[in-house]
Amino acid sequence: MNERPNSLHASDIAHSMHPYTNMRAHEEKGPMIMTRGDGIRVYDIDGKEYIEALAGLWSVAVGFSETRLADVAYEQLKKLPYYHSFAHKAHEPSIRLAEKLVEMTPEGLNRVFFTNSGSEANDTVIKMVWFLNNALGRTGKKKFLSRNKAYHGITIASGSLTGLPANHKDFDLPAIPVTHLTTPHYWRFANEGETEAEFTARLLKELEDTIEAEGADTIAAFIGEPVMGAGGVMVPPEGYWPGVAEICRKNDILLVSDEVINGFGRLGTPFGCEKFGFTPDILVTSKQLTSSYMPLAAIMVSDEVYNTIADHTAKLGTFGHGFTGSGHPVACAVGLENLNIIEEQDLMGNAARLEKPFQDGLRKFADHPLVGEVRGVGLIAGVELVKDKATKEAFAPAGSMAAKVAALAAEEGLICRNVYETVALCPPLILTEADVTEIHARLGRALDRALEWAKAEGLV
Ligand code: PMP
Repeated sequence: MNERPNSLHASDIAHSMHPYTNMRAHEEKGPMIMTRGDGIRVYDIDGKEYIEALAGLWSVAVGFSETRLADVAYEQLKKLPYYHSFAHKAHEPSIRLAEKLVEMTPEGLNRVFFTNSGSEANDTVIKMVWFLNNALGRTGKKKFLSRNKAYHGITIASGSLTGLPANHKDFDLPAIPVTHLTTPHYWRFANEGETEAEFTARLLKELEDTIEAEGADTIAAFIGEPVMGAGGVMVPPEGYWPGVAEICRKNDILLVSDEVINGFGRLGTPFGCEKFGFTPDILVTSKQLTSSYMPLAAIMVSDEVYNTIADHTAKLGTFGHGFTGSGHPVACAVGLENLNIIEEQDLMGNAARLEKPFQDGLRKFADHPLVGEVRGVGLIAGVELVKDKATKEAFAPAGSMAAKVAALAAEEGLICRNVYETVALCPPLILTEADVTEIHARLGRALDRALEWAKAEGLV
């Protein structure tokens, strides 16, 4: 009985290179091997149960045991397991999913391009935007504006848009022209005595000044996550997004809403741009698009963006871009069924209904001695940990306390993710109110144990 788990453990240590992992530490610690899922829960190889409060990687909207997705994947695999969409080829799953996405996303986004991942999607966005500006003869208009702590992927170009040190250092990034602006996070980045409105005004002025200094004719697009996710769940201040959108419009800069985490109800509205009141020219989705049962991402573009690109392909003879897996029929069939489930079960409405109990229960931890700020919208939240509540000083080494809390939470049967100083939560949208209560209870025990540990270590 024991031999198999032990051999898997040893085999992983011997052969695997894990993403986002300290590889030498992994040789000592070994893997946490998951074997099955059931609703919002997953079970490891020893049979231990966990609430998956990050929905895998912010993505499993329908939970870990939706047999309807398994069934459509199987049916599609039997009928037409693969076909591509190069050079006028098409198949029903990608046609139907594109139709569905046009129906679900905000008005004006009427064209869809499929890729396999969020990173590939943002690489594709960069290439589309460059292609578009070349088509218009604006060959110098190529720079992107992003934000510090943004997450837009890890390929060479999308990783350049990302604004996190670990994704740049020693990878020789950024490798495309990009300027990272101030993170729109009031609690951490406001100046002494600055109101939220003044903070918003300062960030919008920074945007205008940057455009003026670099020249609007050099800047192609602004990309942002409505609520920033993997950098630590940062909710923008009031008025930020409408202000950004207006400045972009005025300067003929395309606005890209990266909704890889925010999309399909995560914030309690279908899309993040709707939550914050702005209209993007390009909208990127992935993750909850298929609940990550299959890899898939979709880029939605406005008619204007489409028409400029389409005219140029007519001139050049082709759009010289696309992936073998673009619009994979199995991924698209799963995506369509997943979106049908989200609608039929009103999971976006469920996220809106559970927002208050989920967020209110977490806000209670704001009084905990280790907690600096609790923030979030809908069913995504961050609990930022501090050594000193008054000065907001973080524990050293950076990220160590969030890692400790996440490790203790796992012992308590709760999987969340430590991102820098923040413990992030982003549970499946099928959550119930009882699940919300249980998440709070398990996280509370982890925070209390972390405090005891910190006291014993003389850290507080
Ligand atoms: N954009 C955002 C907002 C993301 O959160 C992520 C992944 N966490 C990506 C892009 C990249 O997606 P992928 O990991 O599928 O390449």
